[in-house]
Amino acid sequence: MCGIFGVFGHPEASNITYLGLHSLQHRGQESTGIVCGNGRQLIASRHMGHVADVYNEDVLAQLIGPNAIGHVRYSTAGGSHIKNAQPFAVDYAHGTVAIAHNGNLVNALHLRGELEQSGSIFQSSMDTEVIVHLMARSKAPTLAGRLVEALGRVRGAYSLVVLSQGQLIAVRDPLGIRPLAIGRSRGAYVFASESCAFDLIEAEFIRDVAPGEMIVVDHSGMQTSRPFADASCRHCVFEYVYFARPDAILDGPGVTDCRERMGRSLAKEHPVDADVVICVPDSGMTAAIGYATESGLPFRMGLIRSHYVGRTFIEPQQSIRHFGVKLKLNPARPVIEGKRVVVVDDSIVRGTTSRKIVGMIRAAGAREVHMRISCPPTRSPCYYGIDTPTRRELIASSHTVDEICRYVKADSLGYLSAEGMLKSVDPDGDAVHGFCDACFTGDYPIEIPEPPASRSGGLVGC
Ligand code: AMP
Repeated sequence: MCGIFGVFGHPEASNITYLGLHSLQHRGQESTGIVCGNGRQLIASRHMGHVADVYNEDVLAQLIGPNAIGHVRYSTAGGSHIKNAQPFAVDYAHGTVAIAHNGNLVNALHLRGELEQSGSIFQSSMDTEVIVHLMARSKAPTLAGRLVEALGRVRGAYSLVVLSQGQLIAVRDPLGIRPLAIGRSRGAYVFASESCAFDLIEAEFIRDVAPGEMIVVDHSGMQTSRPFADASCRHCVFEYVYFARPDAILDGPGVTDCRERMGRSLAKEHPVDADVVICVPDSGMTAAIGYATESGLPFRMGLIRSHYVGRTFIEPQQSIRHFGVKLKLNPARPVIEGKRVVVVDDSIVRGTTSRKIVGMIRAAGAREVHMRISCPPTRSPCYYGIDTPTRRELIASSHTVDEICRYVKADSLGYLSAEGMLKSVDPDGDAVHGFCDACFTGDYPIEIPEPPASRSGGLVGC
């Protein structure tokens, strides 16, 4: 769960990157970084926290140069720590290079063990660092050649932007699991995880980077190549269900349209006699609108979300039941009281939040609570860059829908079918798009190797 951004040849590269990262903040809130290039050197600025909190005019004024890459991070490999903040930048035999990665490499620990055995010293616990070590060992004469050789050894999901003194390279793994788009702003090429980043900076969206495509930008222009063996694409379907911003357009479909169709299909598959449709904001909102439209029931805001919940809040000494959820969500009593309520959310992971939400709606006076989920039961962990807990913690891996319904204490529970979900994302079913739906089906498009025996130690800073 990360967002990446890159720009080459722009008079305000670091400012544009700052704004692009701000639009991608939902993809990662732990740390953020910008590396700027002026043709001679790269300047790095990495911090823990949110983009708007850590960058100000003074910091951005030091990031001088027409080229930049940036990153927002939510850790899926390596802990949440400043030494793991990206872009990751190093000096090596060929100059300076910085890299920003969205995705997760499934064989990183094996490669790291192998590299360490032959003398590599790692600076972070991130999977991304193995790419840099492999590049440093490559004998290829160009940056692109070294990167292709390194990526030939890694397995997993990667959308990358790589910056050197004279080039910006954007590349997407052969299955295109994580998104990456290319745009144009004031004559400069820009890259972003989601197209919504282009809207804020008034860049023109050109197209998505194709699965397996590498784009090299330098002063002579842009060159594209397909350096990897052909593979059929498998975009992550969970980006459309939950992760991407609703105003993003990913590999063709608009996310809002997809979510509304999911809600409509959910209403067809799991209709219910009720008085009102509400959502769990914000992620369940668009599907709830679709459910209400299809069912003819009114959509109302029955749960209100506070947008000011920070990382930690001090709980009063007299403990308040379900404090964490209450801090974030509060029912609008007049919408709910005495009503048969349909509550739509995008997914159930552990079930703990859903159980609290159902309790909260009942406490606000609902007569009945019917939970509807706009994707199938989440049964298997993601190894390609979405932060999901282990299989054991996923309630649907060991419980039936009826058991989950009893656990969350709803009057009924309905999940969208896998077919309904895929049809919502690709209504024409034209087979242009293949999807990774491993979190629902356990069908992993890239084999997950057994983890190597764990090592002891680990340097932690403070
Ligand atoms: P729970 O009922 O505890 O399983 O929590 C369900 C909520 O978690 C839903 O509102 C989802 O929007 C949200 N959710 C789903 N996937 C993730 C994820 N990977 N990281 C954080 N929250 C998620």
